[in-house]
Amino acid sequence: MSRAVPQREYHIVVLGSGGVGKSCLTAQFVQGVWIERYDPTIEDSYRKQIDVDGRQVILEILDTAGTEQFTAMRELYMKSGQGFLLVFSITSSSSLKELSELREQLVNLKDDPNVPIVLVGNKSDLEEDRAVSRAQAFAVSSGWGNVPYYETSARRRQNVTEVFVDVCRQIIHRDLQRGRSGG
Ligand code: GDP
Ligand code: MG
Repeated sequence: MSRAVPQREYHIVVLGSGGVGKSCLTAQFVQGVWIERYDPTIEDSYRKQIDVDGRQVILEILDTAGTEQFTAMRELYMKSGQGFLLVFSITSSSSLKELSELREQLVNLKDDPNVPIVLVGNKSDLEEDRAVSRAQAFAVSSGWGNVPYYETSARRRQNVTEVFVDVCRQIIHRDLQRGRSGG
C-alpha cells in the first residue's frame, strides 16, 4: 500500500429466490471455484479486492439466504448495502417475478429510485431449459430505470466478474457525482 489514496470499501448484497445460484455466483467470484452443492441455509459475507477501471476497491459481499419476507434482517442488510445484485434463474419465471417486490422494498427503504442494481439472469448454460427470454428480462430491467441486465453462468464462469464490476462502477460514479455536487 504505497499509495496515499485510501482504498474504498463497498458493500454488495446478493439477493434473489432460493436456488437461483447466489452462492455459486459468489463462490465463483470470490474463490474462482464451482461448487455444485452449496448449503442453502448459509448466509455469509466475503471480502475481495478488485480493480475497477484502475481503482483498487475492496468488496464486502453478502450472500443472502432464506425465504423470509420483509424481516428486520432484510431491512438491515438492505440499509447497509451500497450495491445490489438481483439474481434470478433463466430457467424459472417465478424467480424473476419475485425480484420486482424485492426491488420495490429496496427503492422504498433507500428512498432512492437509482440505487445501484444489476439484474442477473443466472444459469445461462441451461439454454434448453430457458423459461425467461432475454426480451422479458430486458423489459423488467428497463422498467426499473434501465438497470443493466446480464446473463451469467456460475457453472461456466461466464459474466461473473462483469456483474460485480458493473455494480461497483455504478457506486463509484455515484460517489463522484455526489462529490462534485457537494452532497
Ligand atoms: P442460492 O440458493 O441462490 O444460493 O443457489 P445456489 O448457489 O446454492 O445454487 C442452487 C443450485 O443451482 C445448485 O444445485 C447449483 O449447482 C445450481 N446452479 C447454480 N448456478 C448455476 C449455473 O450457473 N448453472 C447451472 N447449470 N446450475 C447452477
Ligand atoms: Mg445460497
